[in-house]
Amino acid sequence: MSFSTLGLSPAIIKAVQDQGYQHPTPIQQQAIPVILAGKDLIATAQTGTGKTAAFVLPILEKLQHIQTRRSKRIKALIITPTRELAVQVASNVAQYSQHLNVRCLAVYGGVDSDAQKQSLIEGVDILVATPGRLLDLAHQRAVHFDELEHLVLDEADRMVDMGFVDDIYNILDRLPSQRQNLLFSATMTDSVRVIANEFSDSKQDKPA
Ligand code: AMP
Repeated sequence: MSFSTLGLSPAIIKAVQDQGYQHPTPIQQQAIPVILAGKDLIATAQTGTGKTAAFVLPILEKLQHIQTRRSKRIKALIITPTRELAVQVASNVAQYSQHLNVRCLAVYGGVDSDAQKQSLIEGVDILVATPGRLLDLAHQRAVHFDELEHLVLDEADRMVDMGFVDDIYNILDRLPSQRQNLLFSATMTDSVRVIANEFSDSKQDKPA
């Protein structure tokens, strides 16, 4: 199987080729068509399986078609448990979108938020965020969710372990109900299942 048979555009395929990727990994083969079809997805995937590209590539595929709208408000929100993961995911988004005109920003705690707020004012398509800082920015009305189309909860089990469940529910309450929900977790614990159950038409998907 190749990236082109998955339904991705030449600009995105070129970017993954630039990274030296020859073939999609199993999680990419399974997740990308489901996400492109607009469905919700609950996936168990460990780090190192290529899970980041599994959700970033189809989101980029969807967002490149809305570029003409050029609104400043976020279209995709990727929530990660840690600052390190937020930075890493945003760096992957930058790599995979190098031939596209998509704006990505990572926001996380422990640093001054002024630069993050300024970037949000200028316009961000894909926001990668840790839960606490995201809620801070939402309370300050520095981020607006009304145009959000895709939500990703990355490493959901770690977010539960780190005590972010209430923050996650608080964030979910603020999002438009019409949206695509994607949840990735290394393990499928009861707490992760409860969060996943919030997603109405979710599908179970496990890599072979
Ligand atoms: P992740 O599981 O998202 O943390 O990705 C693990 C590593 O696999 C990262 O260094 C990616 O750059 C790399 N990777 C992702 N997809 C592929 C692929 N299809 N072929 C080769 N490497 C990949």
